[in-house]
Amino acid sequence: MRCAGCAAPTARTRVRARLPPVIACPLCSGPTETAFTTHDRNRAITAERFRYRRCTACRSLNLENVPADLGAYYPDEYFSLPDMPGLRAQAARERWRMALVAAHIQPPGRLTEIGPGNGIFAIQALDAGYDTVVVEMDARACAYLRDTVGAEAVQSAAPEEALATMPRSHVIAAWHVLEHVPKPWALVDAAASNLHPGGVLVIATPNPRAFGQRALRGRWPHVDAPRHLFLIDHEALVVRAAAAGLELVTLTDVDPGGLHWNAFAWHYALRRPGCSLRRDKAAHLAGRALARALAPVERRGLRGAAYTAVLRKR
Ligand SMILES: [Zn+2]
Repeated sequence: MRCAGCAAPTARTRVRARLPPVIACPLCSGPTETAFTTHDRNRAITAERFRYRRCTACRSLNLENVPADLGAYYPDEYFSLPDMPGLRAQAARERWRMALVAAHIQPPGRLTEIGPGNGIFAIQALDAGYDTVVVEMDARACAYLRDTVGAEAVQSAAPEEALATMPRSHVIAAWHVLEHVPKPWALVDAAASNLHPGGVLVIATPNPRAFGQRALRGRWPHVDAPRHLFLIDHEALVVRAAAAGLELVTLTDVDPGGLHWNAFAWHYALRRPGCSLRRDKAAHLAGRALARALAPVERRGLRGAAYTAVLRKR
């Protein structure tokens, strides 16, 4: 605004010019503020600094300076590809995942998993009798899932695009995937379109309202810079899912997965990448002890490290 008498900028205009530009939330377009700056604390692949912003509208966190080549931050050892007895032993410790799905929708039916990793859940789905297909970006993992685990595997780094071309599913599972993808809402929308009416979408993801996140901020291991692009607030997810025709039926942060991630966070906060096995074991034990001590705080009021949401298509 300019002065009506001399056309010079008014004081208000000069103050505005000095203010930093408003950066919109990629999820809801609301205003964001600087949350913290951190580095790759979990894997130390780079010394680069990463800036996270918090949306004051939807309360989600997002990585501001997303690297151009995200694949470079996922080393080959990101997840191990065990033999079948090894995979079944891992899967046996996580039977709760299939129990959660089966409580909402029973086999037979088509189950699509996005980002299956080494197939801990895919093998459960196959054993339960689901027609199981996985969408995975990593070629090595895809070959393993197809040839060793026995799932139908689709290789794609854009799961929202892959889903649009695939047959309809009765279950879509995305265990700790939403935080990694550049377009999380496109993935939720594509999952909603792909599901049969009455089908369910299962999402587990880190919780930006976690006690650990508030206490440790950029040092919280579930920030996992730069691999985690978003830490999505559960209310934002529920609102977006509802707009896509999905109704929340279960929301919890005290399922076995959530409790595991509480202890994981304290363990990883106490260790450094490349530390000795002895140091890692000590951090692991201390992390479990901390999680037990903090249980009265972390297990109430949705303040756990990660939440699991089950959403049903209307
Ligand atoms: Zn937002």
